Amino acid sequence: MKITAAVTREKGKLSFETVELAEPKANEVLVKMVACGICHTDIAVIEQFLPIQFPYIAGHEGVGVIEKVGSGVSEFVPGDRVGMSFPSCGNCDNCMDGKPWACESNFVSMFGGNLREGTKRVKGEGGEDIGVMFGQGSFATYVVADQSNTVKIDVDSDDVLSRLCSLGCGIQTGAGSVLNRMKPRPGSAIAVFGCGNVGLGAVMAAKISGCSTIIAVHGRRGREEALTSGATHVINGRKEDVVARVLEITGGKGVNYALESAGVPDMVITMLDCMARDGVCVLVSVTGPAQIPIELERHIMNPSVTVTGAVEGCSNPKVFIPELVRFYKEGRLPIDDLNKFYDFKDAEKALHDCHEGTVVKPILRF
Ligand SMILES: [Zn+2]
Ligand SMILES: [Zn+2]
Repeated sequence: MKITAAVTREKGKLSFETVELAEPKANEVLVKMVACGICHTDIAVIEQFLPIQFPYIAGHEGVGVIEKVGSGVSEFVPGDRVGMSFPSCGNCDNCMDGKPWACESNFVSMFGGNLREGTKRVKGEGGEDIGVMFGQGSFATYVVADQSNTVKIDVDSDDVLSRLCSLGCGIQTGAGSVLNRMKPRPGSAIAVFGCGNVGLGAVMAAKISGCSTIIAVHGRRGREEALTSGATHVINGRKEDVVARVLEITGGKGVNYALESAGVPDMVITMLDCMARDGVCVLVSVTGPAQIPIELERHIMNPSVTVTGAVEGCSNPKVFIPELVRFYKEGRLPIDDLNKFYDFKDAEKALHDCHEGTVVKPILRF
């Protein structure tokens, strides 16, 4: 069938094209798109900060309605509202063990352009194959995805569905880092560095977890959003002495948990200086070959601090996204104020606003 997609053929550009989408094969679904969120990874893909093979369709926070299912699909029927999350291989030890976020081929699964079955479903006007991001490529009016990274979203309108795009990646990463990786003790203290979509998701999850002290360290923006997300204290990371303030707030003990979501390598040293003994630090956004001068004895060994990563918040989307939907319905995941909607044709403007940080979560509507 003919669909419209925003194809990246050269670095930094989107080209709106009519392309051919093949039928869903076994275990695949055809989804009529309702909306797609934008996160910084889309920019990394379009700007080729990652080794992406063009032509390529970005977009990895798609939500829509099942239009058709391939053979062997028992989980979905046409008319189901769904979201798509990150893909995984399904065959490695970690996938088998219910840990798709730790898939041994996660880079290839997420960014290699193919569906799980190993081939592509989109062809351009010249018959050339076009890759898709995260096994979806949701900057398009329709998507064929594998059922394994498609999740039923139990809401009663497309309007509500369109508000939940970020559960597929950004909020999942932030909230999952807290709920799945840290599993904080009720009453504990946490600091979240960076108040974008991921950081704010972590703040909300810290409140859900019953953390008593939730410190949000923001940059140019994010102060108000952090407070409405549940932060008990906010620190301006650009103007204040973060370590001194954290120690003051925690009575000199430091925080039991910290999340790095600001993408600033030097901030990790600050974060380590804020840790209480036996604390857990989770890194989710430092990219590239950044090196920082950690003092092993003072920062890690002596205080018994754990430093860990958390791809996609260590989430199994099939289990975790429905949990997040329940939190949203209960009013415990106040993400509505973070969303700003754009027409699909204004995707470049939405990407620009995401990059500038003027909008926490741009969402394209189809
Ligand atoms: Zn795997
Ligand atoms: Zn993302």
